[in-house]
Amino acid sequence: MTILITGGAGYVGSHTALVLCQAGYDVIVIDNLVNASREAVVRVEQLAGRRIVFVEADVRDSDTVASALTRYGVDAVIHCAGLKAVGESTERPLLYYQTNIDTTLSLCSAMERVGVKTLVFSSSATVYGDPDELPVTENAPVGWPSNPYGWSKLMIERILTDVQAADSDWSIALLRYFNPVGAHESGRIGEDPKGIPNNLMPFVTQVAVGRRATLSVFGGDYATADGTGVRDYIHVMDLAEGHLRAMHVIAERGGCRVWNLGTGRGTSVLEVVEAFKRVTGRPIDYRIVPRRAGDIAACCAAPERAQAELDWRARRGLDAIVRDAWRWQRQNPEGYMGSDRE
Ligand code: UDP
Repeated sequence: MTILITGGAGYVGSHTALVLCQAGYDVIVIDNLVNASREAVVRVEQLAGRRIVFVEADVRDSDTVASALTRYGVDAVIHCAGLKAVGESTERPLLYYQTNIDTTLSLCSAMERVGVKTLVFSSSATVYGDPDELPVTENAPVGWPSNPYGWSKLMIERILTDVQAADSDWSIALLRYFNPVGAHESGRIGEDPKGIPNNLMPFVTQVAVGRRATLSVFGGDYATADGTGVRDYIHVMDLAEGHLRAMHVIAERGGCRVWNLGTGRGTSVLEVVEAFKRVTGRPIDYRIVPRRAGDIAACCAAPERAQAELDWRARRGLDAIVRDAWRWQRQNPEGYMGSDRE
């Protein structure tokens, strides 16, 4: 079987490519390298001992996508390409709506044109907005994401649902990621944010490695056990394995199906900081600062549907997350920079 991964040189895409290669699939990666590195794909090939076809192109280039789908005999597509910086999406909403939505529309048009109709989409728990009840199930109302990034994911979910409703030949999985963190256990691939990281875990590891001085903890007065924000952190390798399972299930059962990919466990910012110190021996200098606009107090997945229907569960806990994130950061203090081979 041959799988095309859009955004396959990025963080989630590269780990998913590795899981697929290791499971014996032929993998095609298409990526415009706007927020990703060619080196990530090279390292996936090394880890898997398998060649990956790399197409450097924008997914909005529908002709290139269509010809890749036919040329390589692609059976299914995993769609990870898109912009994902929440803060930037608030400053540049047009860019986010245009890029994320156009990319998906072009991809689906190309797929439709050549008759490839199995699609796994990277969605996000932000579609739930600030959920009324925790843990949040897939049946919770999707409501009011607090930023254009989240809205773009919600709009794409709607588009894909309509596409599948109009043509039952489509099989579509909408995967609502909670907070993907960590890295492959080899430390060869991992998260490589450009500039100052927006997300907690890369910021923590960059403090530990000396690239940043102090972690700002956004808010110490939330209604949580220690006052700091609570999230459901999922190891990126667990997440990647979830994609493989979801692809199997929709290929077999069809329809348009939604799954949360999370652990069901909530962890506070201070618990992450403590775990980091416990596992790596490195204390993280931090100070509590005012809340970040748009943040919610707590979010945590109900993972039961994915567990039952995908026969999948997140197996790696917080200690493994921290250990692997730290190994990646320590071995690659500047990320992929300097090792690019273009
Ligand atoms: N956070 C923090 N300092 C940072 C980055 C994040 O205190 O430098 C907190 C943030 O307020 C939230 C949690 O860490 O409670 C996870 O934030 P992240 O940006 O990683 O993911 P989000 O859940 O916002 O998508």
